[in-house]
Order: sequence, then structure tokens, then C-alpha cells
Amino acid sequence: MMRRLLIKNAEVNGAAASDVRVAEGVVREIGCLSRQSGEPMISANGGALLPGLHDHHIHLMSTAAAQDSVPCGPPKVHTKNQLIEILQRHSKSSTNWLRGIGYHESIAGNIDRNWLDGFVPHQPVRIQHASGRLWVLNSVAMELLTGSFPAGVEIENGQPTGRIYDSDQWLREHYTHAPPDISGLSDDLCSCGITGVTDMTPENNDDTVDQFMKKVAAGELQQRIHIAGGADMSYPFSSPFVGVGPLKVHLHEHDLPDFDDLVESINQVHRRQRPAAMHCVTQTELVFALSAFQEAGTIPGDRIEHASVTSDDCLQQISQLRLTVVTQPNFVRERGDRYLREVPQSDHPLLYRCASFLNAGIRLAGGTDAPFGEVDPWALMAAAVERKTQKGRSLSPHEALTPEEALHLFMGSAEKPGIARRIHPGARADLCLLSTPWQVARDTLCRENVRMTIIDGEIVYSDKAEEITKAASQCRQPIPIRAPALS
Ligand SMILES: [Zn+2]
Repeated sequence: MMRRLLIKNAEVNGAAASDVRVAEGVVREIGCLSRQSGEPMISANGGALLPGLHDHHIHLMSTAAAQDSVPCGPPKVHTKNQLIEILQRHSKSSTNWLRGIGYHESIAGNIDRNWLDGFVPHQPVRIQHASGRLWVLNSVAMELLTGSFPAGVEIENGQPTGRIYDSDQWLREHYTHAPPDISGLSDDLCSCGITGVTDMTPENNDDTVDQFMKKVAAGELQQRIHIAGGADMSYPFSSPFVGVGPLKVHLHEHDLPDFDDLVESINQVHRRQRPAAMHCVTQTELVFALSAFQEAGTIPGDRIEHASVTSDDCLQQISQLRLTVVTQPNFVRERGDRYLREVPQSDHPLLYRCASFLNAGIRLAGGTDAPFGEVDPWALMAAAVERKTQKGRSLSPHEALTPEEALHLFMGSAEKPGIARRIHPGARADLCLLSTPWQVARDTLCRENVRMTIIDGEIVYSDKAEEITKAASQCRQPIPIRAPALS
């Protein structure tokens, strides 16, 4: 059966009382349309129908891992018995890791593998200390570690205790584990109207692409995904739901790469028309990245991630180099009070600028940077408009965006962040329906305004459960890219 849907009485591209027909994953018609026999129909009641939101900077696997983690310390857990109870409640006969966070020795002392084995003997467990510097593993987990132990693996009487200090990188490389289940996160994104994401994890490689292909095929990931990552990724690569994005370079102010090497990496990917994205959270990192782009030259799609601190000079250079900036104004709210405390006052006007980028003609896109920021794109938009910290203090209010500009942060495509998509015949049916017209929604930017989310012509979220036509068990198989028009 042809997948069809008629959306009646929506606000489309600002025009009220428009009807939209969707078939085979594509917008077919917009206008005053009558229902065809057997065609499923949604009454939008005047709500705004938007292109589906695209989060341009997120880390899906680590967000899912963080959401899956069991709290092992305050404020949820204060006593040994509470810890045992929560571990036993979350443990299952599974080879998936049980990951705990926030442990503190005030709860049950200096726990080790034997202690954990007593309560979770069969499933690999790792519990992170609140300091972030220590993991405690049970015996099943220790057995999964391959290779020889670094100094951080504590040994007593010739046996590892299960306590591993300051060895995150080694742990990541040496334990074999299944990637986390991201279905819950994907549902959460659907309920925010997000139909596509760009995963900006610098370690991403061709294996990551395979993992995401499988997750899409299994229906575990419903969004389209664009995957940035290492220089050796196969590029170009594109399937209807999975694409490979820019080279991601993670600059660290205290450990900057050799300048000529960086320029050469940019040149290498540019020769394949693959853009580069540079992580810049300090002014030094930004100056370094801009010098490298200046030297290598730029191609469309080159971008600066974060641009957390941007001087006027850098802003001019970003404009001249025609770079896109992918910003996180959600940090103004989430971290603003700390910024105001810790960042020198003279730099406050340079933090997470937004309006100045647009005024300089720079393409500006948004990404929540979850799990470092919160998953909700609407909270980011509200923060971009309000420029208020959690405690209600203002941070460079002159950098505020209008609600329309804030929405546009998520309206770009994966390939063209910062350039708003429109709904038109032939466009992918990746859509976000709000419960009210935009003129109402713009005054309260929040995820509760999302009434329905449609990806590839299928309803993947509805605040009215009966409208979900997709069977929960239905799997999406990889399929060839369709022609844009009906034949
Ligand atoms: Zn990031």
C-alpha cells in the first residue's frame, strides 16, 4: 500500500489554511486539497507545519549512555542499601553493560569488584566515581578487558581490584561492548520535532557508520543522521537515512596540533569536497582554526563548532572565510552563571554571540551538544531569545535572536546548516506540526508545542497516541534513494 497522508488546515510557510499531501516519503501537493478515498487525514487546526528540526551538533551514543546510566550517588542514592537496591533493580541477565554514575565512598566505602560481584554477578558493571577519575568494575566486566593493564588499574596481591583510575581513553579502547540502545533517545528527539541530526563525535569512523546503519535498519534510530568524524572515513557516503559529514577536528588549547599538519588534513578532505569542522571553545583555538582555514582555503560546508568566545576580529574573519558557525546558546542558560563567575568580565560580551554573527552575514546553525547540553532544541531557542542564565541574569542581551532567527538555527539541512528549508512539493516529508500557529508558538518556545513529528512520510510522534499509524514493531529497511517526483 502506498504510504499517504493528508494534513488539513495547517499554516505552511506562513500561509494559513493550507493542506499538504504526503506520499511515499515526499511532499506532493500544497494547497486546498480534498481527501482521496482511504487516505489517512490529520486535522492540523491551524497549527504551524514546519520542516522537521535538524540538530547540527549532538553526540548520540554518549547521550544515550548518559540517559541509561544508573545514579549511584546523591541526590538519588545516599546509603549502601539504596545503592544495592538500585543496582539489583537495574541489573538484568544481559551482556549489555550496566553503567553507574556519581558514586561517592560516603555511600558504601571503597567498593571493589568483589563487593559488586555480591550484588551483580552475571552482568558487566562499571560505576563511575563522582570525581570522574575512578571506575569500579565487577569481575565479569574485568574479564572483558583486553590487552595489558596500564598503571591506573589497581592491583592488590597480584589481582586487579576492579578499581581503575584515570584511564578513560584506555577503557574505551580496551573493553568490548555493544553500542548503547538509542531507541529511547530517538523517541525523545521525535517528541521535540527533530527529524535529523548531525553526530559530531571526533572518534566516529566507518565502523560508527555501520553501527548507525544497523540502528536505522532495526528502527532503533528513526531520525536521519549525518556523521562527522575522522579523516579516513569513506566519503562521499550517502544512503537515504545515513550520510557522512565533515571532518571533525577537536582542538585543545593546551595541546594544539602542528599547524602544517592541520592545514594538510584540511587540504586532504577538501580534495574530496569534504568540509572540515573545528571545535573552538577558546579564543586561542578559534584564532588557530581561522589561521588554518585561511592557509588551506575554504569550501562550502566548512564550519566552526561552538565559537564560544569570538572577538570582533575573528567574527570578521569568519565572515570573510564564509564559514558556518554551529552555536549552543543553550549554554547561556545551562552554564551562564558559571561563565559570569569564571570568565573574565571583558570576555562576557564575546560569549556565545548570536545576533552579531547574523549581522555579519555569517550562516548560523544550532546544535544542543547533548550530552554536554540538554537534548531539547526548543530550550536552546528560548535561551537564544532570552539570553538569561538559570539564576535569571542577563548575558549579552544584545546578542539575542528573534524567535524566527532562533527557529532557523534548526531549519538548515545536514549539508547546508544555517540555510532554512521550506516545505515544497518534492521536499522530503520530514515535518514538525505545532499545535498552534507560529504567531502563538513564538511567544513560548517549548517542546510542548510539538503536536506531531513526521519522518519520511510516517508519523513518528504524536501527542495524541491514537494518531500514530506506524506499528511499533515495523522495521525500516535501507532502500535506494527515491526519485523526487512520482513516476
Ligand atoms: Zn560536541
